[in-house]
Amino acid sequence: NIVSAGMLVLALAIAARPPDPSHPYGHGKIEFLSAGIEGTAILFAALVIGVESIHELIAGPVIHDLDVGLALLAASAAANAILGVYLTRTGERTRSEALRADGRHVLADVWTSVGVIGGLFVVRLTGWIWADPWIAITVAVHVAWEGFRLLVDSLRGLMDEADGRLIESTVATLEDARESSWIDIHSLRGWRSGARRHIDFHMTVPRYFNVDQIHAIHDRVELALLDGDEHGGDVVVHFDPCDETECHHCAMSDCAIRSHPFELRQPFTIESATRPDPTAHGHPATRIDLSSAPAD
Ligand SMILES: [Zn+2]
Ligand SMILES: [Zn+2]
Ligand SMILES: [Zn+2]
Ligand SMILES: [Zn+2]
Repeated sequence: NIVSAGMLVLALAIAARPPDPSHPYGHGKIEFLSAGIEGTAILFAALVIGVESIHELIAGPVIHDLDVGLALLAASAAANAILGVYLTRTGERTRSEALRADGRHVLADVWTSVGVIGGLFVVRLTGWIWADPWIAITVAVHVAWEGFRLLVDSLRGLMDEADGRLIESTVATLEDARESSWIDIHSLRGWRSGARRHIDFHMTVPRYFNVDQIHAIHDRVELALLDGDEHGGDVVVHFDPCDETECHHCAMSDCAIRSHPFELRQPFTIESATRPDPTAHGHPATRIDLSSAPAD
């Protein structure tokens, strides 16, 4: 745990570096890599404990130095408790999901140690030495589950899995900051590189807007989405020109080309924001259908 926490702290230091010419999207993914290595190491530890205890079940348990074992376990549980509380607190302070996850994992190990200490006390009091391999197998299953969860979470991060919470908060922020010229948004994608957020989407604006106006919209969108986020991120918007089918839900009050009166303002929702581009344009390979993207 101490080695893996040290690796995580190193990974977080690298992840916090701002984007540079060699890594223009930032260094956030190293957080997921370190969590993946940690998960693999934990799975391997579970395998070793499991094989050892099955061997003991077959050959018959041999227990010696029970008091030394108990003392070592108590010492490591105490060290883990201090480490776990430190990691969890630092994770809360720096809003790092990876640190918080590691802290939870270390604290879970403390409870495992407490369980083993209790079991060994039973062995010491009753002399029923068969309890030892069974306790070890229970611990191995628990440790394997922890390692598996860490590994799966890190793979999801490495694979740029759609971040449902990020998409939800992005849509809500855009709806709050919405201007009458923001006629529609669609093709929205969001993923995390460690703590850095990457968001891109299409926005339909009045077709007669000039580059100055569109550029100013992009700046305001960026400010709304990233303001106050110390980790920073990337926002890229593809602008689409409106057409007459959108007039009935377009709130522009002074439109010279309106062909239909305004009827109803449609709020941005996760469903509408992640639907594919309703008009075919650009290279076919850039057309993506995200309509079945999960909401969580
Ligand atoms: Zn610019
Ligand atoms: Zn377009
Ligand atoms: Zn219009
Ligand atoms: Zn579009």
